Amino acid sequence: MLAAMPPPVPPPTPAPGAPRVRERADACPGALRLHSADDGHLARLRLPAGRLTARQVEVLADAAEALGDGRISVTSRGNAELRGLADGCGAELAPLLAEAGLLPSPTHERVRNIVASPASGLDGLGTADVQLWARELDERLCAAPWAAGLSGRFLFVLDDGRGDVAGLGGDVTLVAAAPDAALLHMGGRAVRVAAADAPRAALAAARAFLSAARAAGTGAWRVRELPEGHEADVRDVRKALAAEEVPEPVLPQGPPPAPGPLGPAALHVLAPLGRLTAGQLRALLPADEVRLTPWRGAVVAGTDPARLPALEAHGLITRPDSPWAGVSACTGRPGCAKSLADVRADAVPGRPGLPVHYSGCERRCGHPHGDRVDVLAAPGGGYLVDGVPVARTDLARAVTTARTAPRTTR
Ligand code: SF4
Repeated sequence: MLAAMPPPVPPPTPAPGAPRVRERADACPGALRLHSADDGHLARLRLPAGRLTARQVEVLADAAEALGDGRISVTSRGNAELRGLADGCGAELAPLLAEAGLLPSPTHERVRNIVASPASGLDGLGTADVQLWARELDERLCAAPWAAGLSGRFLFVLDDGRGDVAGLGGDVTLVAAAPDAALLHMGGRAVRVAAADAPRAALAAARAFLSAARAAGTGAWRVRELPEGHEADVRDVRKALAAEEVPEPVLPQGPPPAPGPLGPAALHVLAPLGRLTAGQLRALLPADEVRLTPWRGAVVAGTDPARLPALEAHGLITRPDSPWAGVSACTGRPGCAKSLADVRADAVPGRPGLPVHYSGCERRCGHPHGDRVDVLAAPGGGYLVDGVPVARTDLARAVTTARTAPRTTR
């Protein structure tokens, strides 16, 4: 079934301490359920672990040019969005994606939300290759009819032990703890499982969440929305998989891989303001595979890092000292009716430093996790930089100061 949906209406915020009650299923767009925006329809393709084969790169780039606005947006979960799609183009898009293996299960297409350490298995860091876990988890997810009942926002995070993605707010987070062991985190608790059981354990945890959500009757989309007394419990996984509870679980924290070479046969680039042109996406080839990242870039596996200067010439960010590294923006005008400004056109990088995110309204869609400079469009054409009013003409100076000043003095 192909359908264009109107923009989602945000649910009312519950009173402090009151459980959130969801009266409807989530309205997240997908590849089959398009979202209607001011610049046309939008399709969001779930790419478990951000993975695209070389052929899928070509198909996605061709689809963006033939059906959309010629660009591919990379989301904060490493998924891909096509924008500017015409009315009725879903009937053309779906078979293209299916034929390329990008729609393995129409009933599960919106629940394949899996983020995994993108450089896993490529740079010698990390304790296990969680890209392999991601593939097994995706296969198991698509093979489980009940899993189609998860919301389009439910998130699995698989961290290879380096801590680059563990803090990205997963509902179920797996962390490689040793070559033969993994920690499964959910709702503030964790259990240790055998590495070979890790994908199966993540799926069991998701099922425990769905059971808890149904028992609570509040329509929760995510683990943190479950009301008191109905928590999803990792101990259910422990019973199913002979897992051992971890007394004081702590999620590892580490930096994302820097743009540049990643070992002898891989590299990492960032997309300017999180969008790739079809030409920039194709320029990543030849490669064995491309992994879109939660930092709105791409890890390219099976390619020569000596290609980095050529990719820079295509407009991609290839060095950590680029001022555009760490700069992101929401859709803004003209794509979003809520926006007070064309934030993507107004965005200036300032000097390298803290990440900075530009938003057209207070929803701050797509903002990165962690410490960042907040730039918010204000009525009258100006901006608020970390809450301080700034004229548009003064934005570069204000953003440079905010990105580079020590946090304690700001
Ligand atoms: S943050 Fe940006 S994209 Fe999100 S609703 Fe506001 S203006 Fe639109």
